[in-house]
Amino acid sequence: MAVVVQKFGGTSVADPERIREVADHVARTMRRGDQVVVVVSAMGKETDELLHLAHQVSKTRPGREMDMLITAGERKATALLCMALHDLGVPADSFTGSQAGFITDTTHMNAKILEVRAERVRAAVDAGRVPVVGGAQGVSTNKDVTFLGRGGSDTTAVALAEALGGVCELYTDVSGVFTTDPRVVSVARRINRISFDEMLEMCAAGCPKPAMRAVEFARTHGVKLHVRSAFTWEPGTWITEKETDMEDAIVSGVIGDASEAKITIGGVPDQPGVAARVFRAMASADVNVDMIVQNVSEDGITDISFTLPADDLPKCLALAESLASEIGASRVTPDSSIAKVSLVGAGMKTNPGVAATVFETLAANKINIEMISTSAIRISVVVAGAECDRAVAVLHTAFGLDTTA
Ligand code: ADP
Ligand code: ASP
Ligand code: MG
Repeated sequence: MAVVVQKFGGTSVADPERIREVADHVARTMRRGDQVVVVVSAMGKETDELLHLAHQVSKTRPGREMDMLITAGERKATALLCMALHDLGVPADSFTGSQAGFITDTTHMNAKILEVRAERVRAAVDAGRVPVVGGAQGVSTNKDVTFLGRGGSDTTAVALAEALGGVCELYTDVSGVFTTDPRVVSVARRINRISFDEMLEMCAAGCPKPAMRAVEFARTHGVKLHVRSAFTWEPGTWITEKETDMEDAIVSGVIGDASEAKITIGGVPDQPGVAARVFRAMASADVNVDMIVQNVSEDGITDISFTLPADDLPKCLALAESLASEIGASRVTPDSSIAKVSLVGAGMKTNPGVAATVFETLAANKINIEMISTSAIRISVVVAGAECDRAVAVLHTAFGLDTTA
């Protein structure tokens, strides 16, 4: 009998009817002869609501209390799903992350898993019961409740699959990983199989599903991932080690990401150590800088532009402004309305001309490119935020990814 870890996202368990449908699916899987372990997210948008509540109540929001609050969402969902399973005659037990043996470090709001002591979960499975585990949570080495961060339930599921030697099914509100967000581009196509490397590049470029940490964990431990629909239940996307007979698609996916902002520090003296000072300051302030472009200097003066998470813009802007006077720069210009558009595909390594086609396509559509960066299997450009969806759509068409193409 195979162990299957089935993880259900917020929309999959958003209301009583959905919870009963998920219970039906778990029961069906059991009847097929598999042993099931379930991981659930908080219902619907509850995590956002709890975060909003905390912002309304408190200015300080201590991490320990935030984690206690947020993990309550998943805890509620585990108990409700167990009740629905009991109604179907399926014996099931709810577990918090702590009860399921998730030991984490002491970082609140973004804790890292140190160890999974899965004995209790395994014992439940061996006894023919279905363990239903709260996602994205654990207990720290200080014995406090911890939250693994947004999207952390995917990581919980992968870690359990690894601990129990099973496959991991991530059920969500679309039927797999698509060539681009199917809610934005209606002609997006489902990818049936994708390698860990390509999936990780897509995650890094801003694809929200599956959560990047979960994909990293799965790759490291060789856990097979299947992203699929909790609404149609059809087979979805397999994320696995690269298969030798797999044709490398030139472009597997196009990802639009409007969550970044840009800062330009202008009139910077072109001297050794200037960039080092700027980016050391950003790193010390815990800012994850993404793309960096420095112009060719003219008369010993240059400018440096970089992108960063939009949420960090106010903090970074203040920092850049105070640094500007120290390094002798003349101005700091923020831009919060940018978007990063990325194309990912393992076939890029062996097919010249991908970048040229990207630039030609954008030019033909009068979309200006502000920045460019590449990796072996990715090309990213920064465009005006208002052009994000159009840029994604025209590139999706240009690389033959539309379902109608
Ligand atoms: P869950 O809550 O089930 O974990 P998320 O809401 O985090 O799921 O992610 C699912 C959403 O990701 C989908 O509704 C879809 O709109 C969005 N999405 C964006 N890009 C893609 C893509 N390339 N493939 C699939 N889904 C995508
Ligand atoms: N409910 C949490 C979130 O929305 C954790 C998760 O579902 O992965 O981020
Ligand atoms: Mg999610």
